[in-house]
Amino acid sequence: MATLKKIVLASSNSAKLKELQDILATKNVALLPQSEFDIPDAIEDGLSFVENAIIKARHASELTKLPALADDSGLVVDALGGAPGIYSARYAGLDKDRESNDAANNALLLENLEQIPIDKRTARFQCCIALVRFPNDPMPLICQGSWDGLILLAEQGNHGFGYDPLFYVPEHNCASAELEPSVKNSLSHRAQALQQLLENFPG
Ligand code: IMP
Repeated sequence: MATLKKIVLASSNSAKLKELQDILATKNVALLPQSEFDIPDAIEDGLSFVENAIIKARHASELTKLPALADDSGLVVDALGGAPGIYSARYAGLDKDRESNDAANNALLLENLEQIPIDKRTARFQCCIALVRFPNDPMPLICQGSWDGLILLAEQGNHGFGYDPLFYVPEHNCASAELEPSVKNSLSHRAQALQQLLENFPG
């Protein structure tokens, strides 16, 4: 039997760890959370999802001396010049917990789009996953997904997280927060990037 390849995941999100562990199970990979190594968060000072995913992966690889995987994602709204973009998680400023952060982010998004009619509220969720084999890897594997929709006039649904209640999915004529999780997980930006990761996984 082939030996298990150890890869560190540069995230402390246990849902992401589980999702990626399941996906990479067929690739003989032992995916280890960065929390196991007690490493501090990277400074995400890139200007794009790709840069930030690479920064996080290099940081985790540097500190663990293992190959590392990282992802970065967010919502891009055309009428707002691409905002909230890489600042999606902290659009309304940092808050104490994720739920109140999500509520404040959604309220600010609605406020900033107040004057914009529904047909001009085009947006997409973007996800980038980066894999580096070693800290200075000059050729990281980059996998990207993009999911198009519109920003609704009010929140709908209670599945998912983040901007899901405001993200209208044309193919299903509902908000992403109204989709069954299994449906969202077959369509989303993250699902597309993960599929690419699976198809292009080295070795
Ligand atoms: P992260 O990089 O996956 O932690 O995502 C950054 C932020 O983008 C999250 O805090 C959410 O605000 C937003 N986001 C990313 N993916 C989704 C999604 O699938 N649904 C809703 N919001 C998302």
